[in-house]
Amino acid sequence: MTNSISTDICIIGAGPVGLFAVFEAGLLKLRCHVVDALPQVGGQLSEIYPKKPIYDIPGFPDILAGDLVQNLMRQIEPFHPTFTLGERVERLAKLEDGSFQLFTTDGTEIFCKAIAIAGGLGSFEPRKPAIESLENYEGGRGVYYMVRDPETFRDQRIVIAGGGDSALDWTVFLADVAKEVTLVHRGTTFRGAADSAEKVKNLHEAGRARLVLSSNVTHVHGQDGLEAVTITANDGTAETLPVDSFIPLFGLTPKLGPIGDWGLELEDDAVKVNTLDYSTSVPGIFAIGDINTYPGKLKLILCGFHEAALMAQGAFKYINPDKKYVLKYTTVNGVPTL
Ligand code: FAD
Repeated sequence: MTNSISTDICIIGAGPVGLFAVFEAGLLKLRCHVVDALPQVGGQLSEIYPKKPIYDIPGFPDILAGDLVQNLMRQIEPFHPTFTLGERVERLAKLEDGSFQLFTTDGTEIFCKAIAIAGGLGSFEPRKPAIESLENYEGGRGVYYMVRDPETFRDQRIVIAGGGDSALDWTVFLADVAKEVTLVHRGTTFRGAADSAEKVKNLHEAGRARLVLSSNVTHVHGQDGLEAVTITANDGTAETLPVDSFIPLFGLTPKLGPIGDWGLELEDDAVKVNTLDYSTSVPGIFAIGDINTYPGKLKLILCGFHEAALMAQGAFKYINPDKKYVLKYTTVNGVPTL
């Protein structure tokens, strides 16, 4: 069944700028639905550098990227935003009354009066290993490039591949969920945190997970869905292991993706905007944060926050052409709830 959502502003991208846009829209009593291709909020901050301190957020001499995301989530709580995570917005249609309909990869449709694209560097796409016919097992047929819901793997026999934090962390986590977990890594040392690598080695020694080093998953097999994978060691020896799921975790790379096909004026893979209100070449669609470009653009979080404030004013005017908006300070009026 199609999941259908109706809102005032659909924000594409749950990075810091998309999240703060919920706050600015909320002050104007506009409801927001936020969609992100990743299974968690925070954009680059959660995906690339959650433990790195940031020093140029006004009012915070230093703050860990992950903590900033948590604070933003707290800050927008009063406005009860709704989220669709782990789904990429693929297509949009402008309707006759000037509103929009958006479609995600997983069939969710969102009706909204305005759109704020806060897509950052684009949606993060998984780096896929070069294994013949791998794509035949995508789409819920046994190959997964990210763990959206660990319960998918309950009581399964799974093989994870990779040597970074994701591969290590999910091996540790899924050891308690899956029936059998095998981590395959092409080297002998890990890129991920030493502490996590230690945990995986301990699980291996305790017989609760299997660690196969200096090896790669080279073949996938199965008729209707995935049934087995072949693991080939660097010395050429191979074993074929029956599995229910194979999870290659080789990192994510950002790609502009479908946003580039929506008829918006672009420049160097970024969306051109009018700095008056960060509107794009299509009325009703705004672009804020790293995804946009204009003379003097700085790809900084604080610049994206400013853009979110002006975007919200622009979206308010687009949605309510006859209403006048008067700026009110939150210090005087508090934070209204929706
Ligand atoms: P992002 O954080 O990129 O989030 C965009 C989100 O949109 C992503 O989660 C993506 O999955 C989603 N998305 C895209 N397309 C779609 C689609 N079609 N459907 C669904 N979802 C989609 N900035 C600073 O100000 N200070 C710093 O100290 C700093 N340090 C940095 C350190 C590193 C290592 C890096 C990589 C960046 C740093 N930056 C820093 C830059 C900062 O992270 C970015 O400016 C910021 O993340 C931009 O936020 P955003 O919300 O625009 O986009």
